[in-house]
Amino acid sequence: MQSGWLSGGFVAQTDIIVLGAGIVGTCCAVHLAKRGLSVALVDRGAVGEGTSYGNTGIITGGTLFPPAFPADWRSLLRIALKRSPQVNYHLGFLPRAAPWLAAFVAASRPSRLIETAEAMRPLFARAVPEHEALAAEAGAERYLSRGGWLKLYRTDAAFAAQAGELELAANFGIAPVTLDRDGALALEPALAGVFRRAVHWTGAVSVSNPLELTRAYAARFAALGGVALAGDARTLRRANGHWRVETAVGPLDAGDALLALGPWASDVLDPLGVRLPLAVKRGYHRHFRPQGNAMLGRPVLDAENGYCLAPMEQGIRLTTGVEFAARDAPPTPVQLARMLPAARQLFPLGEPVEARTWLGARPCFPDSRPVIGRAPGQPGLWLAFGHAHWGLTLGPPTGRLIAEMMTGATPFCDPQPYAAERFTR
Ligand SMILES: Cc1cc2nc3c(=O)[nH]c(=O)nc-3n(C[C@H](O)[C@H](O)[C@H](O)COP(=O)(O)OP(=O)(O)OC[C@H]3O[C@@H](n4cnc5c(N)ncnc54)[C@H](O)[C@@H]3O)c2cc1C
Repeated sequence: MQSGWLSGGFVAQTDIIVLGAGIVGTCCAVHLAKRGLSVALVDRGAVGEGTSYGNTGIITGGTLFPPAFPADWRSLLRIALKRSPQVNYHLGFLPRAAPWLAAFVAASRPSRLIETAEAMRPLFARAVPEHEALAAEAGAERYLSRGGWLKLYRTDAAFAAQAGELELAANFGIAPVTLDRDGALALEPALAGVFRRAVHWTGAVSVSNPLELTRAYAARFAALGGVALAGDARTLRRANGHWRVETAVGPLDAGDALLALGPWASDVLDPLGVRLPLAVKRGYHRHFRPQGNAMLGRPVLDAENGYCLAPMEQGIRLTTGVEFAARDAPPTPVQLARMLPAARQLFPLGEPVEARTWLGARPCFPDSRPVIGRAPGQPGLWLAFGHAHWGLTLGPPTGRLIAEMMTGATPFCDPQPYAAERFTR
């Protein structure tokens, strides 16, 4: 980072300012620094303490279909009556969210889901190897475990409903292992046999502490000469032909700025006149102590009940499905209470570790793809956000892709499916 006197006072300068130090911004900063650029990573809080803190810790290249809007009337009725464990909503929020929801419903048609699976394949296919390489460089391998993750089905009907996903997986050369109850219990002996079938997505990696993983990647960034600064991204503006942001140590200028603010990206883009249909799907977690010696080797999804149990350093993390509500509305962790009996039936959960439930906001576009690339109409401004349910997984491949684009290198995949222009054309 350099400094100098410009009209208006003393201003520090760097090649690139990355705004937002979640898993996505941190991975982008590492990849940019690795290409020899001087990079400042700016966040108003601490590294990794936003949405990236509280996820289920699954890194999976096997993801195919994004969570879709339900098509059957039974599921819809349960959601409408607020009896669904998978989805909750704030009634007053729905009118505001209606255009986004309509676009989400349209993107949930089977043909569109296959399109999405194909568009996202290059990013997902790179997720595990990119994380493993970064974790090795960062000395963070101890947080990664190669046991895959397990989806459990309590009924044959629910198992049969995902036959299309298994078929598509085979087309992409992904080979999850289908198991009967005994096969799954051999992997996870502490589970109760309340399910009939299971699918073991063997290629996935799970993270025992997503916060520490992001911190380790940030330490790698610092070791490469990167600088982390406190600052508010909402101060971003054009000044002297550069992008300028106010930081705790004064103004900072750069030729390029990269917005990786996750669910907060619109706070900066809307005032600049770049309007993208970003919404949030809120989600909750709470840690529980296991009873006795009970252990979980890998994350487990109870498919019909829509929650995950994941082994974390803090305890067994119970994570919820989706809540449609304003990003900053007060927490309403009713889903967690709704699913707790089913979770206790499946695994011997003891006392909660914390007094309060954690709330996060998955940054989501209606087509379940992130935006990675240039900001329309704003030269030198770049975007990397909207990774929805899979931002932990997709942080490193996103970092590689955006760094290749920003440095004029040949991108490892066609970035067109992730262009912001798909919403502004
Ligand atoms: C319950 C739950 C379970 C999940 N499980 C998984 C999973 O198993 N696997 C997976 O891959 N993904 C999972 N996800 C999704 C994943 O956590 C997110 O997609 C990912 O964390 C998004 O990362 P991000 O860096 O874009 O955003 P964030 O982590 O939210 O980072 C954004 C950063 O911007 C900063 N910021 C905001 N406003 C400003 C400002 N004005 N100035 C400066 N800085 C600012 C914030 O402080 C924050 O550090 C899950 C999400 C939830 C909620």
